[in-house]
Formats: sequence, C-alpha cells, structure tokens
Amino acid sequence: MATIFDKILSGEIPCEEVFSDEKCLAFKDITPQAPTHILIIPRKPIPSLKDIKKEDQELLGHLLLKSTEVANAAGLENWRTVINTGEEAGQTVFHLHIHIIGGRKLNWPPG
Ligand code: 5GP
Repeated sequence: MATIFDKILSGEIPCEEVFSDEKCLAFKDITPQAPTHILIIPRKPIPSLKDIKKEDQELLGHLLLKSTEVANAAGLENWRTVINTGEEAGQTVFHLHIHIIGGRKLNWPPG
C-alpha cells in the first residue's frame, strides 16, 4: 500500500530535502522532536525492519552510512539514530525510515 513517503519520493507531496541519491532520500521531519530531526528513507518500498531480506544488506549499510554523513552535514556531534518497528514501538509510517535526532540533550530510556 502506498504511504505518505511514497508520495514524497514521487514528488507528489513536497519535503525539505537534505540529501538524495539513487538509493535513498533524506528530508526534514514535519514534526521535529529536536532542533535537528531528519528522516532517511530507501527508495525501495520496504515497510519495516520486519520485512528486510538478505538482498537488502547492502542497501541497509548504505542508509546507515548516509545517516552519518547527513548528521555530520547538519553539524551534529551527538545524535540518536532511531528505527521504530511496529505500531507499539511507535511506527506510524510503514515505509522503512531512519530518524536522525539531535541538537539537544536526549534522555534515555525513551518512553
Ligand atoms: P514513525 O513514527 O513511523 O517512526 O515516524 C514517522 C515520522 O514521519 C514522524 O516523525 C512524522 O512526523 C513524520 N512524517 C509524517 N508525515 C510526514 C510528511 O508528510 N512529511 C514529513 N517531512 N514528515 C512526515
């Protein structure tokens, strides 16, 4: 099923893009939880970490590498990388995404 992120990928819905390549797109979260809150999503429509396959190994590594580049480019020295998996874990959009959250002191454990 198409999600809001598919519409962002197709350009149907605008976003504040911070990085893009042939495998992924990074953009600012519309409801930031910290001064910096960026999402990185694969162009491939994988619903969640529950759905990853062996063939996705390289893509997942690419997303993590890019998440660090995006965090560095945003000037972050500390940040949290979050992937919510499943509704009870807080996932609301079922297109795999990595949150990069930083720019303030972050508490642990999360709620
Ligand atoms: P989740 O709760 O699934 O881990 O994260 C989904 C994230 O997507 C939320 O932080 C939410 O604010 C963000 N989000 C939902 N709809 C949009 C949108 O249309 N544009 C942008 N930029 N972010 C969105």
